[in-house]
Amino acid sequence: MTDIPGAVRPDRRAELAAGLTQVRARIADACAAAGRDRGEVTLIAVTKTYPAGDVVALTGLGVTDVGENRDQEAAPKAAEAAAAGAAPRWHFIGQLQRNKARSVVRYADVVQSVDSVRLAVALDAAAAAVRDRPLDVLVQVSIDGDAARGGALPGVGDPDRGLDPVAEAVAGSAGLRLAGLMAVAPLGWEPERAFARLAEVAERFRARHPGATVLSAGMSGDLESAIGYGATHVRVGSALLGMRPTLR
Ligand SMILES: *Cc1c(COP(=O)(O)O)cnc(C)c1O
Repeated sequence: MTDIPGAVRPDRRAELAAGLTQVRARIADACAAAGRDRGEVTLIAVTKTYPAGDVVALTGLGVTDVGENRDQEAAPKAAEAAAAGAAPRWHFIGQLQRNKARSVVRYADVVQSVDSVRLAVALDAAAAAVRDRPLDVLVQVSIDGDAARGGALPGVGDPDRGLDPVAEAVAGSAGLRLAGLMAVAPLGWEPERAFARLAEVAERFRARHPGATVLSAGMSGDLESAIGYGATHVRVGSALLGMRPTLR
């Protein structure tokens, strides 16, 4: 059975079903606590390091969206899942080299990690060349303003890395659709403090870009706090699929 591409053992399927039940309950409870409708929050299953069979099993359990952070891993996984009949929405959530743009735009429905004008330009060119519809893009925003880490910089005039220039570049690209913002809480920050600051940035951003309503924030450890501060998409890996052998 393990020889069949996309196949998953029954015990693994049961494990994923149990994880999914727990994560869905956490999301529902967080929505209730925040006075939000459960339908406002989409679960993205982050399947990095896990095989295509897990993607197939999760879509069979009703998961509609999956996330991956490395092109070398995601491209063959998406092909294998598709061959097994699984067609979730693929979110690319990792740091993206411009020379990988051509590959990513072939399978990704959403790229969540655009944090420079140069990357937006490369993705637009790649999307225009190989896609028949615009690619949904989230601008990844830095919560702590540390330029050395990922994320566009709110309130900073840098022409390549500033949040406004990056958003304008995406919004002005025929091959891309500006869908919203993504962020990761900085290491060492209380989630409440991080997501409160993100909510302020998101509010100002939506005043300029009213159609860009997606806010992707919250992971296994902090999804409740993110939902409390308005996340529309949570990206959950380990709480759903198990601890990854290497942390990344
Ligand atoms: C790995 C990853 C996640 C999921 O993290 P967990 O803690 O396993 O839920 C979410 N977002 C990004 C950008 C990631 O790289």
